[in-house]
Amino acid sequence: MKKYTDLFLDLDDTLYDTYGNAMIALKEIFESFHLEVYAGDFDTFVQHYWRSNTKIWNQYAHGKITRDQLDQQRFMNPLSELSDVPPQEAFCMEVNEAFLNLCVVQKGLIEGAVHLLENLREKGYRMHICSNGVRKNQIIKMTSSGLIGYFDTIITSDDVGIAKPAIAFWQYALQQTGANSKNTLMIGDNYETDILGAQSVGIDGMLFNRWQKDFIPPKPVAFVVNELKEIEHIL
Ligand SMILES: [Mg+2]
Repeated sequence: MKKYTDLFLDLDDTLYDTYGNAMIALKEIFESFHLEVYAGDFDTFVQHYWRSNTKIWNQYAHGKITRDQLDQQRFMNPLSELSDVPPQEAFCMEVNEAFLNLCVVQKGLIEGAVHLLENLREKGYRMHICSNGVRKNQIIKMTSSGLIGYFDTIITSDDVGIAKPAIAFWQYALQQTGANSKNTLMIGDNYETDILGAQSVGIDGMLFNRWQKDFIPPKPVAFVVNELKEIEHIL
């Protein structure tokens, strides 16, 4: 396929196994901070954690909460839900910091990520990360997991001051990379932030349908794949 010259790629849960890596870190902090005092057993805790996590990331993507508020709420919300006596804010921030420090050094990737990046690099695509995250953390994650060398540009919401799916995020990414929207494809696991966001500025989308295999996008998407290994046969 010759149409695309530039690929925008989401990092978390598209290339980097953020969910799997976070589960390892959650298990560790659950034990070291004795979160059973608030949350009972680990399974109950992670169930509440992920429900709350999806909600706060959605709020962040829509500018309803700041990154600092996201950090404050990450553990406060699920632990408060589960406990009669809410935890102290300082304690939650301490847990949050330990959690993030543990997360960023995890090396877990989505199956086929390196193979795919090698293949796309050989084909001559310019590749850019477009991520809703803190630049410093994303760089550490990409370095720990060996992804860093594949990318020409790394754009994070932290750099832009606004998150995907906002139009301003994509305008900034196009400007920084020098890419033309018509020749660019955005690949990501989040239909709303990655795909609808990119489409709003005329960038085609490729949905990596990781979560819900029977998901049918409400609006047409250029490509939908269920596994990374399908992508090299398309591009
Ligand atoms: Mg993602």
